[in-house]
Amino acid sequence: MADDRIYYQLSPANPAAHYYQVRVRIPAPDPQGQRLTLPAWIPGSYMIRDFARNIVAIDAESKGKQVALTKLDKQSWQCEPLSGPLDVVYQVYAWDLSVRTAYLDSSQGFFNGTSLFLRVVGQENLPCHLELRPPPAPVTGIWRAVTTLPGVSLDDRGFGGYRADDYWRLLDHPVLMGSLQTVEFIAEGVPHQLVICGRAEFDRERLADDLERVCAHHVRFFGEMPAKRYLFMVMAVGDGYGGLEHLDSTVLICKRSDLPRLGLEEPDEDYRRFLGLCSHEYFHLWNVKRIRPKRLAQADLSSESHTRLLWAFEGITSYYDDLALVRCGVVKVGDYLETLAHTVTRVMRNPGRRRQSVAESSFDAWTKFYKQDENAPNAIVSYYAKGTLVAFGLDMMLRRISSDGVSLDELMRKLWLEYGQPDKPVPEEGIEQAAAELVGESLDDYFALAVHGTDDLPLDDWFRQLGIGFQLRPARSSEDKGGYCETAPTVESLPVLGASWRQSGDFVELLHVFEDGAAQRAGLSAGDRLVALDGLQITSDSLAGRIAVLALDRSVELLAFRRDELMRFQLRPLPAPDDTCDLWLLPDDECTPAQLARRKRWLQQ
Ligand code: ZN
Repeated sequence: MADDRIYYQLSPANPAAHYYQVRVRIPAPDPQGQRLTLPAWIPGSYMIRDFARNIVAIDAESKGKQVALTKLDKQSWQCEPLSGPLDVVYQVYAWDLSVRTAYLDSSQGFFNGTSLFLRVVGQENLPCHLELRPPPAPVTGIWRAVTTLPGVSLDDRGFGGYRADDYWRLLDHPVLMGSLQTVEFIAEGVPHQLVICGRAEFDRERLADDLERVCAHHVRFFGEMPAKRYLFMVMAVGDGYGGLEHLDSTVLICKRSDLPRLGLEEPDEDYRRFLGLCSHEYFHLWNVKRIRPKRLAQADLSSESHTRLLWAFEGITSYYDDLALVRCGVVKVGDYLETLAHTVTRVMRNPGRRRQSVAESSFDAWTKFYKQDENAPNAIVSYYAKGTLVAFGLDMMLRRISSDGVSLDELMRKLWLEYGQPDKPVPEEGIEQAAAELVGESLDDYFALAVHGTDDLPLDDWFRQLGIGFQLRPARSSEDKGGYCETAPTVESLPVLGASWRQSGDFVELLHVFEDGAAQRAGLSAGDRLVALDGLQITSDSLAGRIAVLALDRSVELLAFRRDELMRFQLRPLPAPDDTCDLWLLPDDECTPAQLARRKRWLQQ
């Protein structure tokens, strides 16, 4: 039988100049002229990134002779008609240390297939072979390569031959190379690895232990583990945060101080955030990688693909990422409520929640959520943050309607069995329909309010069902994000500017001016550089305090540069809005047995 595999050879050819070299061999190219194209975006990150702009040189040859290659658009080429085989050789610049693209220097290499592998148009469903070459000397340390692509002929450092069933699968197994530290554990019988690139010292046993509990919890939650192995690829840096989900792996970037230091007792905020990130990406293994929205499953990655469902794929995942940590016992109830309160605060501080629903935020992610400008807080809502609250509310609705018979947990398992396990992409109305089927009654009113609407959510009611105290109050300071407390604190509402800012040279530069706040009413704009308030110079550190002592019924003069023009504004401060969330556990004697029972089931305590 003829070998019809598409053969990709990848070499970290020039680490010092950050160039990968790729050779694609197509045994039977289209005789009319084979087309090749590189994706414009990567699944999981909904922004056009035009990866092809990093291709700096490209040539084609057949049977040892150069053949003509014509560029068709920003990311596609066509070869002159010929009867195969065809080899295309190109260099890709890779100097972006993020989870979404590709990176190469003499200390490490990382890539997503979307940044490097040209698609052979019309032959996407053929199996692919990847030959991963080691870097030429010199590089720092002894390099190993890790990926979840199945290996076929590898050396003891992971270089050699890999295979993928088709082009789309080739894209969904990123590769990390370098001097790597490895942590291994078994969760529910399945081997898991966490591989760290970059300088980091941490408590390996602690990390393996905590992650094993988190992963095992998620596997039990869905009832089965769809991958034969799982890999966390972590790039530890001085400052950074992010993750991207893949079929059997995830790529994370974190501060090295997020990793658990030796001797750490209770998880601190940094480590809880790291565990939350791991938990989030791991939950995606089911929710978005296998329970997939139809609109994204059909995408060929050449242009935007719009779905109104990101609130479900990111919001529900964000809800369970932290909830799982308390359920499996790696964080305490108070720590979890602290995180949840911060999420509520984040949503309440964005006036944009009144302009955009989470369904709209999902649909327009490409041009709004992923392209946030100075007006973003007034114009958009996060399908992550509000999506978390929508998922929480849906959980409370399902519990109430079914008298605690079912919850969002059962809905996720139903979605897994109906869509994920049989690999049937979810239509736009699929989540709402499945929820209604689960309880045998329409939830249209809930979805109209929470998913398609812009009114505030009845959070008070949802928390009360769990015997949890909830209040929204003014912030005490710019650092105050609310949180978990023993009882409701009383906080005085001080005058505020209604803007965020930073020090910029001798000026205080406004970053965001919030809708209908004092700054906007005074005529101030983002980008204005404030000089003096009431005749005295201001600094980033003094501004909040200077405003806080002003009288609410009196205007003061504020001087600011806009462009190079000095302007005068009359500022009349407004009281701080109730945008900061506190949560506390109501004492047992103030709760009904039903509230206590529901809280216990919710937290699985
Ligand atoms: Zn996510």
